[in-house]
Amino acid sequence: MSKLMQGKRGLIMGVANDHSIAWSVAKTLAEQGAEMAFTYQGDAFGRRVKPLADSIGCDMLLPCDVEDIESVDNVFDQLKEKWGTIDFLVHAIAFSDKSELRGRYAETSRENFARTMQISCFSFTEIAKRAAEMMPNGGSMLTLTYGGATSVMPNYNVMGVAKAALEASVRYLAMDFGDQGIRVNAMSAGPVRTLAGAGISDARLMFNFQQTNSPLKRTVTNEQLGGSGLYLLSDLSGGVTGEVHFVDSGYNIVSMPRLEELKA
Ligand code: NAD
Repeated sequence: MSKLMQGKRGLIMGVANDHSIAWSVAKTLAEQGAEMAFTYQGDAFGRRVKPLADSIGCDMLLPCDVEDIESVDNVFDQLKEKWGTIDFLVHAIAFSDKSELRGRYAETSRENFARTMQISCFSFTEIAKRAAEMMPNGGSMLTLTYGGATSVMPNYNVMGVAKAALEASVRYLAMDFGDQGIRVNAMSAGPVRTLAGAGISDARLMFNFQQTNSPLKRTVTNEQLGGSGLYLLSDLSGGVTGEVHFVDSGYNIVSMPRLEELKA
C-alpha cells in the first residue's frame, strides 16, 4: 500500500520536546511519507526540536512566537519561498499563566484572560488564514483542544474558555475555507503528560481520574494521538470538517463514574 502522506508537505507548530502531542502527530506523519517544517518558540526549545526534526529528515526549523506577528509572517514568507504551497497544518499551541490554572475561574485577571485567548485561540485564526493562502489545491488543518471546553474541569479555568472559543473558531474557519477544499478540525485529546499539561494544578489527579473513569479505563498513548492526527490530516477523513474529534478513551461520554467504584 502506498504511504498516506506521500507527496504532502506541511507545517507543525507546537513541538517543545518528544512528549509534545505535536511530535506524536509529526512522527506518525513522517512514517507515512510527509515532508514537514517545524516552528519552535525560543532558542531553548529550538535546541530540543532540532534533533527530533533531524531524526525524521526535516531540515526546516523556524523560530516563531505567536505573540509576535512578524515572526508568524516570517514563517510563512520562508515557507512560500522554499515550498510555494503546503497541504497541511498542525497548531498545537496554548499558554496561560500557571497561577491562574488553579482555584476559581472567577479570579482570572483581565491581562491573563486576553493573553490566554490570544495565544491559545486567536493564533489559530491568524495562522489558518496564512496557511490557507498556501493551499491552492485544498488541504487539512488541525488544532488541539480539551474536554474542559465543554464541561467544567477543576483548575482548567480560563484555558477551558479559550478552548471553547478555539472550537467555535474551528467551525467558522471550516465554513470560510470549505469552498477552497480546505478542511479544519480539532482533536480533543485526553490528558497527556506534557509541559503544557503539567502547568495545570493537580494534573496528576486529573490524569488518574480519567484513566479510572473512561470507558476504556486507560489514558491515551502518543501512538493513538498520532494515528488520529494522521486520519484527520490525510485524505482518509476527506469528508470531515468543522469537527471536534475526541481521542480520550471515551471519557467525554461519561456523566458519572462506575457505581461499583463509588461503592468501593
Ligand atoms: P507542549 O508543552 O509540549 O506544547 C505546547 C506548545 O505551545 C509548546 O511547544 C510551546 O512552545 C507552544 N507555545 C506556547 N506559547 C507559545 C507562543 N507564544 N508562541 C509559540 N508557541 C507557543 O504540550 P502539549 O500538551 O503537547 O500541548 C499541545 C496542545 O495540546 C495545546 O493546545 C494543549 O492545550 C493541547 N492539549 C493538551 C492536552 C494534555 O493533556 N497535555 C490535552 C488536550 C489538549
